[in-house]
Amino acid sequence: MKVLLIGSGGREHALAWKLAQSPLLTKLYAAPGNPGIAEEAELVSLNVEDHAAVIAFCQKQAIDFVVVGPEAPLVAGLADDLRAAGFVVFGPSKAAAQLEGSKGFTKDICARYNIPTGAYQRFTAAEPAKAYIREQGAPIVVKADGLAAGKGVTVAMTLDEALAAVDDCFAGAFGAAGAEVVVEAYLDGEEASFFCLSDGKTALALATAQDHKRVGDGDTGPNTGGMGAYSPAPVMTPDMVQRTMKEIIEPTIRGMAESGYPFTGVFFAGLMITAKGPELIEYNVRFGDPECQVLMMRLKSDLLPILYAASTGTLDQVSAEWRDEPALTVVMASKGYPGAYDKATQIEHLPQARDGAKVFHAGTALKDGQLVATGGRVLNLTATASTVAEAQAKAYALVDEVRWENGFCRRDIGWRALNRG
Ligand code: ATP
Repeated sequence: MKVLLIGSGGREHALAWKLAQSPLLTKLYAAPGNPGIAEEAELVSLNVEDHAAVIAFCQKQAIDFVVVGPEAPLVAGLADDLRAAGFVVFGPSKAAAQLEGSKGFTKDICARYNIPTGAYQRFTAAEPAKAYIREQGAPIVVKADGLAAGKGVTVAMTLDEALAAVDDCFAGAFGAAGAEVVVEAYLDGEEASFFCLSDGKTALALATAQDHKRVGDGDTGPNTGGMGAYSPAPVMTPDMVQRTMKEIIEPTIRGMAESGYPFTGVFFAGLMITAKGPELIEYNVRFGDPECQVLMMRLKSDLLPILYAASTGTLDQVSAEWRDEPALTVVMASKGYPGAYDKATQIEHLPQARDGAKVFHAGTALKDGQLVATGGRVLNLTATASTVAEAQAKAYALVDEVRWENGFCRRDIGWRALNRG
């Protein structure tokens, strides 16, 4: 099978690494890719925003299957255009990607299908939103409806904070994403991520993970795209997984199909495990980054037929087997991230992959033959071992071998799992 993988981050490096191990694969292309992905795939310098160019490439190379990694091309309708041209694609349609693109859309599906989530209201003007907030009281959560890179959410502990968040949204702090505001009940509990595939009718549970959104040790400082992750999430017991499938995922699949937007691809459900059980915080419609890296380290099965089955309505014919051992990844980022940082700083040395340990490239490039950092999040030092503590030690041993003056990382990835003993 000839496969084209779209994307250039650590998530796509992990997908490329796993796809490249498939006996079914005859050729792997990646667009645009990165120097890590180049070890697994032939890089193609396609502009993925130019859908016609992507289709022309697929036709010329007789591509059998396209895997879309990031959300932006999905929200832009790349999967729809490729499907219309006759290609098999892993990833939801633009309409189904609203599950990530519009929080109000997702909340409405939850309300209609009785999916546990915080009570909410949608608003297109400030005054009614404020009146609702005053009525509900704090703590309360104010969210810009659209995609705002995690910045559009205010978990307000006081009324004043919540009212100010409403003003910010309607004043245009998040552009078009804030033209509508969702106000929702504050959920108390432990967060976990749950990954699951759907072919539009059937669900296949994958695995669980927990990430570390804040930039600093002890979960301090500003939010980031994620500074590390591990899988599985201890809070996601087999009972919680079963409840999540039954109470959240299955009704969502039914709801999306009945609403005319059958969902194919990966559900990345952000959950709050409350005293009542799992409740949905949000859906993403692609693998998490860096959660994908730890999932791929734990996946025993061949990834390619599983993704293909999700894309061809045959998910009931495949299964996914997982290693029991946990995997953990530490993100190395450019100093200054998530604020401003220097670009093109030199990475002088990277450790070699070894048994149960792998360096995924997230934001690197080659400049005159020298590896340089090009992004905020740059490297994912990933390891698997029989315990979280050992996986953590192994991942930090990799970190300590990296020679990159402008890099930094958190030193406590995995703390929540370790504290559970
Ligand atoms: P990201 O894509 O960065 O995960 P997002 O913009 O899609 O963020 P959400 O995931 O909906 O937004 O919210 C971001 C974070 O805010 C959550 O991970 C969670 O910690 C917190 N949060 C969101 N909704 C609630 C809620 N109802 N109760 C408590 N905390 C919440």
